[in-house]
Amino acid sequence: MNNTVNNSTDNSWDVLKNSTIMLVDDEPVMLHIVRALLEEAGYENFITVEHSPKAIPTMEEGHPDILLLDLDMPELDGFQVLKQIRDHERFHHLPVIILTAAEAPESKLVALELGATDFLSKPVDPSELALRVRNTLSAKAYQDQLAFYDNLTGLPNTQYFLDLMSWSLQSAKREKNSLVLMDIGLDRIKNINESMGMSVGDQVQQVIADRLKQVIRGSDLVGLASGQDSGENIARISGEEFSIVLNGLENVDKAILVCLRVLEAIKEPININGSNLYVNAGIGMSVYPDDGEDVETLVKNARAAMEAAKQQGTGKFLYYSSEMNAKTLANLKMESDLKRALEKDEFELYFQPKIEVKTGRTVGVESLVRWNHPEDGLVSPTKFIPIAEKLGLIVPLGEWVLDKACACMSQLNAHGFADLKVSVNVAAQQFEDITFQDAVAAALARNRLNPNNLILEITESSLMGDFEQNIDVMQQIRRLGVAFSLDDFGTGYSSLNYLRRFPISELKIDRSFLTNIRTKREDRAIVAVIIALAHSLGQKVVAEGVEEEIQLKFLEQRNCDIIQGFYFSKPLSFNNLKAFLRDDSELATG
Ligand code: C2E
Ligand code: MG
Ligand code: MG
Repeated sequence: MNNTVNNSTDNSWDVLKNSTIMLVDDEPVMLHIVRALLEEAGYENFITVEHSPKAIPTMEEGHPDILLLDLDMPELDGFQVLKQIRDHERFHHLPVIILTAAEAPESKLVALELGATDFLSKPVDPSELALRVRNTLSAKAYQDQLAFYDNLTGLPNTQYFLDLMSWSLQSAKREKNSLVLMDIGLDRIKNINESMGMSVGDQVQQVIADRLKQVIRGSDLVGLASGQDSGENIARISGEEFSIVLNGLENVDKAILVCLRVLEAIKEPININGSNLYVNAGIGMSVYPDDGEDVETLVKNARAAMEAAKQQGTGKFLYYSSEMNAKTLANLKMESDLKRALEKDEFELYFQPKIEVKTGRTVGVESLVRWNHPEDGLVSPTKFIPIAEKLGLIVPLGEWVLDKACACMSQLNAHGFADLKVSVNVAAQQFEDITFQDAVAAALARNRLNPNNLILEITESSLMGDFEQNIDVMQQIRRLGVAFSLDDFGTGYSSLNYLRRFPISELKIDRSFLTNIRTKREDRAIVAVIIALAHSLGQKVVAEGVEEEIQLKFLEQRNCDIIQGFYFSKPLSFNNLKAFLRDDSELATG
């Protein structure tokens, strides 16, 4: 008996001591003392604010459970802060204990009218402080439970869930994030209620609620707002419907992984009084901002998608918009195809000639990977490289490219094009992989390629991570005899300071500057400056994406060293490259 009582008080204390206590007082010493006293009493989470105009914004970030508020403060006094709180759609129920030195009863009266929950006089008495805070928090916890949570499952009730969702939506708008609302429709609950009794139906829902909490808590995919409990973004909407809000997803496609986990969890047998029951579900999803900008629309659309999903059979999920469904299906398919593409030898390396302006000779080629998809034909690297990066396939793919490029160039070097160089694009993940240096050395050795004929193309953004470490790696690779080229220059940081420090021998001006050279004076000026700058640092300049004579003329005038673009040649298969080089050398000698 005694045990039970102790247990229950212990449990509620566990909940209370995790409460977030916010203190607003213009005197730092006071903040210090009150906090120390409450820490002594066992509380662990505090937010302190010294500058009262910051109270509300801080509150919106930190979600306190209780506020201890000083009255006499410059700028915004306690009355004004209290009024703002009571007018705030989110905090009008927040318990506020007023700390005041003023004995004056009229100020207490004013504070009461403004909605103060309780008072404490300064200087604070430690045991009184602990008692008031604890009582207020217990009362709040009890009221919250009644007002905001569903009796059966302990999850937020519909009204509170909609409030939580509208707050999540506001922060998504502010931070320009997307948000996914999942509507989970259970099958068979009505059936179970009718045939086995409501209490069995209730138990089933409790089990499912617990499983949903576990899925969300265990999910590395779901971001929770600070101060938010993992149960806070799940709600029981009705007897056979649950909802989940997913925010902070790195990508809305990821919601699918959550759907799969949810469906899996619901499908597990549910043991009621020794026998197993099976429940299934369909899930609909709506996405902010694509499918709606307000709570009502998102809820409506998620439900419509859920109903459509249920019509397709059990255990299905659907997005509201057909484009989203098509896109995610296509992405999923591309992901699974890409995983097999290396084994199935579906990649091919193309080469685009680089022409020296002064001589008109082909001095090098850039290798550009292509994916020969068995059904979709040639897929552009701009489509599949980002996916390969996401799936961690870029490292093995990059090694394949490197090896192939070295093999092809070694063959050309041995057959009359001894000075020709090959450029290989390197993704950030590859470069940061500790095996990268060895992979480069191995590819050179395996294919007997002269290191001087290999250039690695890298972008600024991939060098920005661990700056010193990256310079180090570059220098070591440089020592092998391999050169570096900075790709897509002008689109990233374009920091002159970095430019000086990286051991780079070549700089590639991004195609976007050349597109507008005819019409945009600034772009002409930028290109001219980049060329002059690179030359002053002893680097060669390559202009990418040259398509027209007028661009070529301009670049020639500005002493650009090398040109790459459709004007001379598109990227070519290895066989076509050999033909191109033969014609080229015949022209030169003939
Ligand atoms: P990038 O390295 O900047 O490659 C230049 C891109 O510009 C190539 O597109 C090329 O076909 C295109 N291009 C060249 N001249 C012209 C022109 O005159 N006009 C136009 N409109 N485009 C031109 P591609 O082959 O589609 O490759 C796109 C990007 O994919 C590459 O940009 C590179 O970032 C990446 N990529 C390609 N192959 C590899 C690879 O093996 N590894 C890695 N990590 N990335 C690669
Ligand atoms: Mg490149
Ligand atoms: Mg480029």
